[in-house]
Amino acid sequence: MKPRVRFAPSPTGFLHVGSARTALFNWLYARATGGTYILRVEDTDQERNRPELTQQLLGELEWLGLDWDEGPVFQSEKLERHREVVQTFLEDGHAYLCDNENREVEGSVLAEGLAVRFRMPQGKTISFNDLVRGEVAFNTDDLEDFVIWRSNGTPMFLLANAVDDADMGITHAIRGEDLLSGVPKVLLLLDAMGVEHPTYAHLPLLVNEQRKKLSKRRDDVAVGDYREKGFLPEAMVNYLALLGWGPPDGVEIRSLSEIVKIFNIEDVNKAAAFFDIQKFEHINSSYLRDLSKEDFMNRVEPWIGGKAPWPEENFDPEKFSVMADLIQEKLRTLSDTPRFVDFLFLEEPDVDEDSWKKTMKDPQVADSLLGHIADSFEECEWETDVLKDLVTKAGEKVDLKLGKAQAPLRVAVTGRTVGPPLFETMSCCMTREEVLKRISDARKSL
Ligand code: GLU
Repeated sequence: MKPRVRFAPSPTGFLHVGSARTALFNWLYARATGGTYILRVEDTDQERNRPELTQQLLGELEWLGLDWDEGPVFQSEKLERHREVVQTFLEDGHAYLCDNENREVEGSVLAEGLAVRFRMPQGKTISFNDLVRGEVAFNTDDLEDFVIWRSNGTPMFLLANAVDDADMGITHAIRGEDLLSGVPKVLLLLDAMGVEHPTYAHLPLLVNEQRKKLSKRRDDVAVGDYREKGFLPEAMVNYLALLGWGPPDGVEIRSLSEIVKIFNIEDVNKAAAFFDIQKFEHINSSYLRDLSKEDFMNRVEPWIGGKAPWPEENFDPEKFSVMADLIQEKLRTLSDTPRFVDFLFLEEPDVDEDSWKKTMKDPQVADSLLGHIADSFEECEWETDVLKDLVTKAGEKVDLKLGKAQAPLRVAVTGRTVGPPLFETMSCCMTREEVLKRISDARKSL
């Protein structure tokens, strides 16, 4: 039988990276096994049952390229079915009515203002084989009767979850470890309905650098935040795939289509996975480097267009196109782009204070060095190698090697110590007059 695999998010207004990883692992499992990938929106919480929250969620999944074969199915539309199952449980004695004070109430018909609890059997062991965690067992003596229907006439999460999995013929449910403790209750509900259990796989917790669970307060947890920062979707899915899983051959940077070929859910490990932003940036920069020029130019558009820090009329697309070749391999994210080129489109460079302090800490040396550079730039050929040579010579006059000698010049011209290749940038994208003016302005500020 073909696996039927579902991703069943509750819309929260943003897609959490942990949830995105769950979406991905279900998708990978479905694609790797030739199964069907189903999207079910668990929107029974009335406050969160808002179309814009769901749209936002679907938009992020599409951005990541995790296409689904069936759905989205909305849990909120299944209310009648949930009620019917709860009613059956009341009739066959699996569940009972109770009032606001949790007291059992006689009767077997659902009624307004009354909740319903499922009766926990005594002295039973409930076990199942989790694809990640292996054999997991719970004793029912450690569990209590639990609410499956609220007195306001809505189903509780576990009930809706179990009924929908059963009705949709779900065979596999891959999800976060935080949901593990609910499984025995769901299995009891499925048994009471007389249907088979899906196979579960619980993915390890995501933690930050301090080994603490990722939290909205402390960490950037929304996929949308990473999108805004200029991470590429293909880098994001690649990185998410590495959270708890690793390719057997150790080659971590690879496309989703390649991952599908080697993905095996049983290779996922139990230990918490560190969400390592530096590693993510490294992967992103690798994807950025490999983009064709055309693709790069398309993707970077928002950062040099609407979001750019310079006056629109100053922007010169031809210059930027030249710069793109020089900077593409240096970027960690697309949002780094303006910092690498802004000095070309601003009247004056936006000088970074730390860079200034670091490179101009001896004002006399800096002034003398910049003076030599300016003199030699006055009438030279305006070419990369010539400029480099002249800065080397100016450096020698104040006893500085090229590496150290070009730093104050870079800060004078670009405002920062880190940026595009300096000599090429000056020769290709700036005039002699512009460079000399910036050197002179920097000397005045010393
Ligand atoms: N709707 C649940 C959540 O977003 C997940 C349910 C499941 O995967 O079984 O936490």
